[in-house]
Amino acid sequence: MLYNQILVRFGDLTLKGKNQKEFLHRLYGLMAEKMADLPVTIENTYDRIYIHLNEVVVEEVVKRLDYVSGISSYSLVVQCDNNIQTIKKTALELMKEIAVKDTTFKVETKRANKNYPLHSMEVTKQVAGFVLANHNLLHVDVHHPEVTLHLELKGNHCYLYNTEIRAMGGYPVGVAGKGLLMLSGGIDSPVAGYLAMKQGVEIECIHFESTPLTSIESAQKVVDLVKIMARYAPKNRINLHMVPFKEIHMALLDNIPESYNITIMRRMMYRIASKLAEKKGCLCIVNGESVGQVASQTLKSMNTINSVTNMPILRPLCTYDKQDIIAISRKMECYETSIKPFEDCCTVYVPKAPATAPRIEKCETFEKAFNYEQMVEEAVENTNSITISSDSDLDLSLLGLEVREVIAELKK
Ligand code: ATP
Ligand code: MG
Repeated sequence: MLYNQILVRFGDLTLKGKNQKEFLHRLYGLMAEKMADLPVTIENTYDRIYIHLNEVVVEEVVKRLDYVSGISSYSLVVQCDNNIQTIKKTALELMKEIAVKDTTFKVETKRANKNYPLHSMEVTKQVAGFVLANHNLLHVDVHHPEVTLHLELKGNHCYLYNTEIRAMGGYPVGVAGKGLLMLSGGIDSPVAGYLAMKQGVEIECIHFESTPLTSIESAQKVVDLVKIMARYAPKNRINLHMVPFKEIHMALLDNIPESYNITIMRRMMYRIASKLAEKKGCLCIVNGESVGQVASQTLKSMNTINSVTNMPILRPLCTYDKQDIIAISRKMECYETSIKPFEDCCTVYVPKAPATAPRIEKCETFEKAFNYEQMVEEAVENTNSITISSDSDLDLSLLGLEVREVIAELKK
């Protein structure tokens, strides 16, 4: 393949004035991290980033670009020197690679180098004429061409490309600060985490685990999902906080009327998540709730659950359709893991008729039945934190213990 570079664009970032420098610095850092094991060279020219392929297979590099938030699009390019004869020759070679049947094309030239001796129109005319004369399957169509061959004259070089591929978009992960993602083993919360990272929010994850009421496999699923999400994170790693939730879970089953069980369970989760977020310097909580999907996600439920905290709650999926969520889940390669059939604390002992319009006063009355404040404190205190990287192979099924015991064992 003729392409010897990838031209990376970062759209939105240019709008950010003063912050631009920091954003670019982060974007460059992220790209360097994702490609650390490849012998590519990354060149930062402050309005573009060029990746010099140095013979690395282009697909391998493109795969890594999919993990970098803040890139708006990229193009595979051929860089050559800006001598007009060289440009003509390179353009012809590229068109021979692209167009193997009757194809319509046009040439478009941009001249960032204003000292270049020829005007853009003149370059277009000369190059198109040369390519046409030497390639017998091509026809010019300036209105609806199948191929547009772009020429960009910058510095001493010409960059030639014929595609612009949309990338993840958003902002480099980390520029917006940190959020705490409530991660279940389901489809939605990893997608919420992905969208938060895409918008620049670095995440830590909190999972409420009720082993042995729930299986160790359900906790393992969470570890596996964090591992996949870590591909998008700075340094390819994410902190996971496993909250021992069994005691609260059992206290709820013993003390709370069935129809309010889920509502109050979620109030407990929000209380614990808020405390942990503060402790870890997270400025918001992120979760996978979506309006109206289940009883706990009606607007009335959300109000009653949300009232236990003042921390901002980001719900990136709140208006998403399930099919759209699944499409993202597949794209980020979480889907197959998310649909593994292990129960978590929200799926064991599901009440037959959960309240869809629970009231705050009622929750407050029911919650007096047990000393939840202390249990919340203890849950935060006894939370087990581990750092998961995209290449870790943590296996929780070790030893047949509860999650907290396994993690304590691993940390010895
Ligand atoms: P998901 O597909 O993410 O499990 P869901 O549609 O099944 O979401 P719920 O089970 O009601 O919805 O949970 C809503 C959100 O609450 C989840 O997206 C997640 O952010 C959070 N959540 C639920 N269970 C847990 C848990 N055990 N640990 C941490 N967060 C949880
Ligand atoms: Mg769920």
